Formats: sequence, C-alpha cells, structure tokens
Amino acid sequence: MPFVFALIRGLEVFMIYLDNNATTAIDPQVLDAMLPYLKEQYGNPSSAYAFGKKVARAVENAREQVAALLHCDPAEIVFTSCGTESDNTAVQSTLWIDRDRKHIITSKVEHSAILRQAEALARRGYEITWIEVDERGLPDLAALEEAIRPDTAIVSLMWANNETGVLFPIAEIAAICQRKQTIFHTDAVQAVGKVPIDLRAGNIQFLALSGHKLHAPKGVGALYVNRRTRFNPFLIGGSQEEKRRGGTENTASIVALGKAAELALEHLTEENTRVRDLRDRFEQDVMKRISGVRINGDTEHRLPNTANLAIEGADSEALLMLLDQKGVCCSAGSACTAGSLEPSHVLRAMGFSTDRARASLRFSFGRFNTEEEVSAVANILAAAVEKVRGANRGVLAA
Ligand SMILES: *Cc1c(COP(=O)(O)O)cnc(C)c1O
Repeated sequence: MPFVFALIRGLEVFMIYLDNNATTAIDPQVLDAMLPYLKEQYGNPSSAYAFGKKVARAVENAREQVAALLHCDPAEIVFTSCGTESDNTAVQSTLWIDRDRKHIITSKVEHSAILRQAEALARRGYEITWIEVDERGLPDLAALEEAIRPDTAIVSLMWANNETGVLFPIAEIAAICQRKQTIFHTDAVQAVGKVPIDLRAGNIQFLALSGHKLHAPKGVGALYVNRRTRFNPFLIGGSQEEKRRGGTENTASIVALGKAAELALEHLTEENTRVRDLRDRFEQDVMKRISGVRINGDTEHRLPNTANLAIEGADSEALLMLLDQKGVCCSAGSACTAGSLEPSHVLRAMGFSTDRARASLRFSFGRFNTEEEVSAVANILAAAVEKVRGANRGVLAA
C-alpha cells in the first residue's frame, strides 16, 4: 500500500501529494542513513578522539556524494542550514570581498531568498538591475550582457523556477558572466536532482541547493563555492567547514543530504522518463477534460516534474480549497506567498494578467507519485473546476 494512505483515528485519510517543489518526503533510505547520527553516533566532528573523527568521516563522505551529483570537487562544497542561507552566503560573501562594487543583477522571477535579499540590499544603498523575462519565462540575455558594468558585484540568476519549472540557459549566462569577468551565482535549489548538473566548465562561482527539495530533511543545504573564488564566511565562529561556515555541523542532516544526493544521481534518468511521463500525461488529461487550460512557461526548457496551469475562469484559492477537501496537495504561486492573495510575482513578470495569475495552479510531481494518483487528481480537478465555474456563472446570473 502506498504510504500516502495514512490511517488517522480509524479513518482512512486519502492524500495525494503533488507539491514536490514546496518540499519532498524524506526517502526511507535517507532516513536509515541519518538515524545512527541522531542516536549512537552523536560525537562532535571537531573532537580529537576516534568517536568524533568517525562522524567527521561521515560528513566528508556526504561532501563527496554531493560533489558527485554536481561534478565538482568535494572541497568546493560548504554545508549550510538551508537553501536560503546558501543564497544569502553567496551574495553577502561577494559584497564583503569587494566593497566598492555596489551593483547587483538578478531577475524578477527569483525565489524570495534572492528577491527579498536584493530588495533589502537596495534599501542599504545597492543598485539592483532586474532582468526581465518574456512570456515563456526566459530571461533577456542581451539585457543581461548590457547590464554588466565594471562595478557589478554579482549576477544571481536561478537555474530552475520553483513556480513554473522554467529552466534558465545557465551555460549561456555563465559564459556571458565569464566574458564580462563578473561573479555568477545560481540558485539551483529546484534544479538539483531533477536535471543533470555539471560544474566542470568552472565558470559558475556559486550554486545553492537545499536538502528538503530532494528527499532529505528540512534545515540542511549546501553551497558550491568554486575553488578559484574568494570567499568570506556568512556565519563567523568556529573553524568548521574549513572556516567557511561556523557552527557545529548538523551531522545527521548532512549525512542525509549526502545519501539524498547519491539517490538523486541514481534517479536522474527516472526523473526524466517516468516522472516526466506522469507530468505530461497529467497535462494532457487535464486539457482533454477541462476547456480553457493553458500551460504557464516554456514547455521546451522546463523541469520534468512541474506543471503550472492557467485554468480560465477558475479562482485558484477556491480550487485549492476544494482540492484540499479531497486530500490533494498542490499550490497556487509559491509556498512562501500562499495564504496571501497576492498574485504570483513570477506569472506577473511573464506579462500575464492578475486574472490569469489568480487562475493558475502548480502541480509538482516526484519519485513517490504513481499513475493512479495522477489520473485521480485529473478527475478531482475536473470536478472542482466545474464547481468553481458553475459558482461564477451563478454570480454572473444573479
Ligand atoms: C525552496 C527554495 C529555496 C529555499 O530553500 P530553503 O531550504 O527552504 O531555505 C530557494 N530557492 C528556490 C528556487 C527554492 O525553491
């Protein structure tokens, strides 16, 4: 029986989780790998005795596993507490190293870890250039090239968009930044584990990833720091992580992230075949049953697991409630803005009306989803849309 069928108070509660871009279930193999470090292996990796050194070796093993997924050197991996910390560390490190550079380039569709950070820096006197995206969600590379100036400190552009799944042309962006001799950071939190990542070209300076988006626990992440890039720690304290991040290591979660990275590498083909098929079949199914459905975002340059759908005349908040009643987890906009009625900043930046943004839902698939779940959700969604549209017609008729 799939683990999504939970027994609560004697009732079978039905749950289908199609919100894997918000967070993912911990893989049972990941949990098995981390548990010893929450139980008997509680030593401090900085301790001089064998009991601590054994844990230090486990941390180094995890570093190798993460490096293998990214095709980089293990020494280029710094463990952090989350994707947000990794994003903040990359930007703040760069700004501290060259304090004369006061110009930052990013896009309007970034995650709040970059977006809000850039806004805060703007209030502190930094100048931000916001790169626009087109209706497919792809950035204007000519504008990027033009925007880079001698006082540009850093270019920060995401690898994959968390809402639409749209993939930025990272190799081209890295080449532009290299040509212009500018530091390039990429928020790859949604890309790692879903698309192949190979840092051997050496022209990306920083890359952020997060454990809980790839079947490791919440509260652990990593930052890739190119070995040729000067670095300034964000958390200053002990000499952990080669003095790049103070604070006693979250050993169990780091071991978990390592195992999750190893599994992600093994599942990369599945992600791009089985999971992609689930997503594609879902989109086809939905479009067959429901009129007026359009895909938000470029369908060619897109994560294999993400479907962001605009459903004409359907209010996404109302749909979310109906889907929730049926045990379906998906989202409108990003998890961070859910609960507020603000239309998605990503869809707005793509030039869509607030109406279209408010009529859009994101379904994100993953390793543990099944074909049965996907067809069940297509049915549930069709009924919910009919209900919401019927209610709208009622209002119009009244
Ligand atoms: C989830 C996410 C983050 C933040 O990661 P946390 O570990 O939750 O802090 C950053 N960027 C993107 C694109 C994300 O999807």
